Amino acid sequence: MAGYKSIWVFLEQNEGVLEEVSLEVLGKASELASKVGAEVTGILLGHNVKRLADEAIKRGAESIILADSPVLENYMTETYTEVIAGLVKERNPDAFIFGATNNGVDLAGRLAVRLGAGLIAHVVELELEEETGLLLGSVPGFGGSILAVCKCVKGRPQMVTVRPGIFRALPPDESRKGRIEEVQVRLKPEDIKTRIVEKKVGKAIDISKAEKVVIGGVGTGGDLSLIKRLAELIGGEVGVTRPLSDQGIAPRDIMVGATGVGLSSKLAIVAGVSGAAHFLSGIDKVENVIAINTDPDANIFNHADYCVVGDLFKIMPELIKRIESLKG
Ligand SMILES: Cc1cc2nc3c(=O)[nH]c(=O)nc-3n(C[C@H](O)[C@H](O)[C@H](O)COP(=O)(O)OP(=O)(O)OC[C@H]3O[C@@H](n4cnc5c(N)ncnc54)[C@H](O)[C@@H]3O)c2cc1C
Repeated sequence: MAGYKSIWVFLEQNEGVLEEVSLEVLGKASELASKVGAEVTGILLGHNVKRLADEAIKRGAESIILADSPVLENYMTETYTEVIAGLVKERNPDAFIFGATNNGVDLAGRLAVRLGAGLIAHVVELELEEETGLLLGSVPGFGGSILAVCKCVKGRPQMVTVRPGIFRALPPDESRKGRIEEVQVRLKPEDIKTRIVEKKVGKAIDISKAEKVVIGGVGTGGDLSLIKRLAELIGGEVGVTRPLSDQGIAPRDIMVGATGVGLSSKLAIVAGVSGAAHFLSGIDKVENVIAINTDPDANIFNHADYCVVGDLFKIMPELIKRIESLKG
């Protein structure tokens, strides 16, 4: 433990706004650093983002390394890896923590390979091992049925990505002061192999807090019209299982399960879904589950409050007709 000098946190920003998970990670890093007498350093890349450095200091960073350049305005694996790998090699931080956003996991993975460092991905708990001071990251596995505790035995820095929403960000402390060190960026636009031609931001759908969700699986054959109509009638949202999202039939935002969204709804109507472990962890907090499946032995029936054995293409139109007539 005496060996710890610095814990780095990647401060991810998007169009000049810090990602909430970066602030959450800062909060956790401050707690860990205080136990080992290390300094928490925020790593901030972007263009015209100096004010975000001040914000991060108020939220727990003691120092910031800032790389500000037009070539870093938008996240790109190539440019961010190049700049950050150079900094790590020069300064040897003991640990480096990232939020597990799309960009965070992309960057952490690339950096870990570049640096020959170990990486614990998607942790939901982070502690220090008493005897060694190594970071212990807990990662859910097998559909959430186990928690694997991992540590980086070889390679430095110890790298970790943290799931969003797990740790608490510190409230802003206006009186906190910290060092901001601006480093030179030597990358030139002509050195970069990729170029952003167009940026399109889709509208995100959050079904995690919906009261009612109608979920379609492979049994729908990819035809979600009945699922959508029923959801509309009961004032609910639409969800899908992973194969439908992997096939591009539905967006990833509405994929339910261990690698998708966890629901906390009052009602989920689940049609044409077998009930694989990875899916089930997405509905284990739902109060009432109604399952429709042709197979009486489908595992989903072991996790449903109401079991309807039958063809969804016969049952759902009847159900829809009934609700429509009740609604007048
Ligand atoms: C690392 C990893 C992570 C994963 N994460 C997720 C995740 O987050 N979410 C997720 O969903 N999956 C996830 N999966 C995939 C998961 O293991 C299953 O493959 C997936 O959930 C199966 O989807 P399904 O139930 O729609 O399809 P299937 O397993 O193919 O089931 C289709 C069901 O539909 C029934 N059926 C067929 N026709 C009809 C009909 N006309 N009417 C009624 N019923 C019918 C069948 O009897 C069957 O039970 C993950 C897998 C891995 C390896």
